[in-house]
Amino acid sequence: MKPTGNHAIIIGGSLGGLFAGLMLRSIGWDVDIYERSAHTLDSRGGGIVLQPDVIEAFQRAGVSHKASLGVVAHERYYLNPDGSIAQRMPMRQTLTSWNLLYSSMRRHFPSQHYHQGKLLTNIQQNGEQVMAIFADGTRKIGDLLIGADGPNSTVRQLFLPDAHYDYAGYVAYRGLVNEADLEQDAAALFTERFVFYQFPNSHILQYVIPGENESLVPGERRFNWVWYVNYNELTELPRILTDKEGRHRDYSIPPRMLASSVEEQMRVYADTVLAPPFRKLVAATQEPFVQAILDLGIPQMSFERVALVGDAAFIPRPHTAASTSKAAANAIALADALIEHEHDVPKALKAWESAQLAYGLHLLKHGQTLGDRSQFSYGVGRFGENTTSVQQV
Ligand SMILES: Cc1cc2nc3c(=O)[nH]c(=O)nc-3n(C[C@H](O)[C@H](O)[C@H](O)COP(=O)(O)OP(=O)(O)OC[C@H]3O[C@@H](n4cnc5c(N)ncnc54)[C@H](O)[C@@H]3O)c2cc1C
Repeated sequence: MKPTGNHAIIIGGSLGGLFAGLMLRSIGWDVDIYERSAHTLDSRGGGIVLQPDVIEAFQRAGVSHKASLGVVAHERYYLNPDGSIAQRMPMRQTLTSWNLLYSSMRRHFPSQHYHQGKLLTNIQQNGEQVMAIFADGTRKIGDLLIGADGPNSTVRQLFLPDAHYDYAGYVAYRGLVNEADLEQDAAALFTERFVFYQFPNSHILQYVIPGENESLVPGERRFNWVWYVNYNELTELPRILTDKEGRHRDYSIPPRMLASSVEEQMRVYADTVLAPPFRKLVAATQEPFVQAILDLGIPQMSFERVALVGDAAFIPRPHTAASTSKAAANAIALADALIEHEHDVPKALKAWESAQLAYGLHLLKHGQTLGDRSQFSYGVGRFGENTTSVQQV
């Protein structure tokens, strides 16, 4: 694509920032990404259900990858308490990993334009241009600034100081197990399947994802599990979100940092309530981690020359399997709007915004319905039943 002479500043170098950066480059923009972390971002764990918007963004941005972007599961199983199969459902889905998507995009994005250790602290705009101000005192000027800076977005706080996420009432314990490290009977049940076990006010699921170095080779992949457990926000959550060094974290504790008392309690609880194959899966997990489930929705995503995308704007619950694909969809639509409006940024952002707000709100509400039904109203509608959604996880 012919260079347009326009320049975008992207805040946040995770998946949302990379989707936006690559899509803008694909329409001839110069792009610089600024990421606060000084280290290579490393996955907290894992699994992502591959959705069409991610594939489209990869294709349109020309991101090369292996023959398949993930591991194909052909069916879903719902288990009984004794581990036998209660229900089988044919459903083809491709399951990938945060690492595979991130690494593929990083390889495709020019490293001289991906800047690490850059913490955005302020933004100024004057109608013609927008300026990003960083904690190290540097300033960068562009035609467009994109806030892809996640749940605690600085960009969002600057423009919508009253908007913040809410705790949904439960957390997701998560873990990964190398294919070779799981007992044979459990491995046979889980391999290349999406498997669920639902019990009162909780559910756990697993699917296979690419392994180390993005390997898709059978035997080198990983079982990825997610277990939703309810905790009271005031009396229980603060303890879960205090890491092993005693530091309280906002919404997640990464692998190797879970407090030993929390991990121990989780393992005992798993042995008490889970169906046997899932007990084995949790027992075989070396570094479980946890993240609080959050709800975030905002009334506005564009502010003259500034746009909010990805988790900075809307955080739908993971049952929609849509956070990553929503970030891709935001970026695709933004590139389309800029072309349609001949790179007039304020006009393009206004035109882009309404459909993105509607999509974010739809995912937010849909996720709340799915999650609340499985976590807080067992018996009213069992997970996996009475729903038109095929995506729920
Ligand atoms: C390291 C990491 C690992 C993850 N692993 C998984 C996973 O395994 N499975 C899964 O489903 N989801 C994972 N996620 C979440 C997933 O990336 C998001 O839910 C989704 O893809 C949307 O991403 P996002 O880019 O909008 O937000 P995020 O992924 O949260 O990224 C926001 C980025 O902005 C940076 N940032 C924040 N504030 C500033 C600032 N002021 N200045 C500069 N940079 C800033 C953060 O360091 C972060 O890299 C992970 C996120 C991260 C950051």
